[in-house]
Amino acid sequence: MKWLYRCPSCGAAYAIEPGRYLCDACGARNAPNLPLEGVLECVWEGEADEARAIAEAGGVPLPVEGKFFPPLPVGDTPLWEPERLREVLDAPNLFLKDDTCEPSGSYKDRASWLVAAFARKHGIKEIALASTGNAASSMSCVGAAAGLKITVFLPAAAPAAKRIQVLQYGAELREVQGTYDQAFDESLAYSDATGVLSRNTAYNPLTIEGKKTASFEIARQLAAALSAPDGRPVGERGQAAPSAAVAFRAPDHVFVPTGDGVILAGVIKGFEDLAALGLIDCMPTFWAAQAEGSSAIARALETGRFEPRPSTTIADSISVDVPRNGSFVLTKLRKHDGRGVMVSDEEILSAQRLLSSQSGLFAEPSSACAFAGYLKAKPSIRRDETVVVMLTGSGLKDIKSAALAVGARL
Ligand SMILES: *Cc1c(COP(=O)(O)O)cnc(C)c1O
Repeated sequence: MKWLYRCPSCGAAYAIEPGRYLCDACGARNAPNLPLEGVLECVWEGEADEARAIAEAGGVPLPVEGKFFPPLPVGDTPLWEPERLREVLDAPNLFLKDDTCEPSGSYKDRASWLVAAFARKHGIKEIALASTGNAASSMSCVGAAAGLKITVFLPAAAPAAKRIQVLQYGAELREVQGTYDQAFDESLAYSDATGVLSRNTAYNPLTIEGKKTASFEIARQLAAALSAPDGRPVGERGQAAPSAAVAFRAPDHVFVPTGDGVILAGVIKGFEDLAALGLIDCMPTFWAAQAEGSSAIARALETGRFEPRPSTTIADSISVDVPRNGSFVLTKLRKHDGRGVMVSDEEILSAQRLLSSQSGLFAEPSSACAFAGYLKAKPSIRRDETVVVMLTGSGLKDIKSAALAVGARL
């Protein structure tokens, strides 16, 4: 199977090789305080038979060969059927995709894993990145398993747990006295000057591609958990697909906590792949769940323009002034008639507590934002529609916010 990078704006193709990040022509349009232009997409060329065979065997077609992936268990996370929460909400078709149980405790491991595999394939020894916290702890974790040097640029205000993870995993921590947006610029200056591989989100196209893997899992897990279209009652799980090949089913709605828009773009890409392979026959409705204080993508979906605004939200992982993948993901959202939903910090904290206390799944505020977004959008969703809420980070990563939600002192 031959893979390449393609620019979704101008169609230019590039080899997937070290040193290639943005499209030359479209990347030249980049301006300060706006989303990246020229973000590239991974595509395969020619026949899809090989990709379909991989998916039907329970895998995910990716642009780096399996033997290069570092030895740690990333992905294949559970899809919960939260019985009590379903009852409380009268939502019998609600599912929770639980990425709080990734090795470093967040969804970011899916991207770090692919970037590390690429580094191993090409004999690259060091990876640098900027992060609000989770990408840093994730890359440091995967780097530790893979034997790679990791240099992270992290705002000094990042939650302590994420900073300590970085140090525990033995990565080099460069604290930035400023915002994530400043850390992004400093880390790019560092990787440009030294030539080390950048894992900056969206800038490195593999960060998007790595995040598509959950969509393959969801479609597989949902098909196994639900009735087939033949009308078996919903919730009666465990009946195997009639053929040996894995069955797939797309949910009706997917709620994704959104900051830079890379998880959302990756999740959409995964379902696009499944549709292109003929494994699903309709696309979900994608919801960009954002905090009111950091809502550039949801706002741009309404206005058609990105307006940089200083972000203020308790949900640190989705707090960005400039959504790096904003342009790329807006195109995808438009194409599939995606929606935006904005929630306040109060709604995030109460959703976090509702989720923990009624399902047993303790997620950090960014993920609670996806759940809060679902609660807000729920009146527009039919009871028989299937909904997947993406829970992307463990609640233990940010105890300070969680303490606020339950009125506890630290
Ligand atoms: C990074 C992150 C997000 C948001 O992902 P983007 O790609 O920035 O939109 C959501 N939840 C968690 C836990 C994260 O770490």
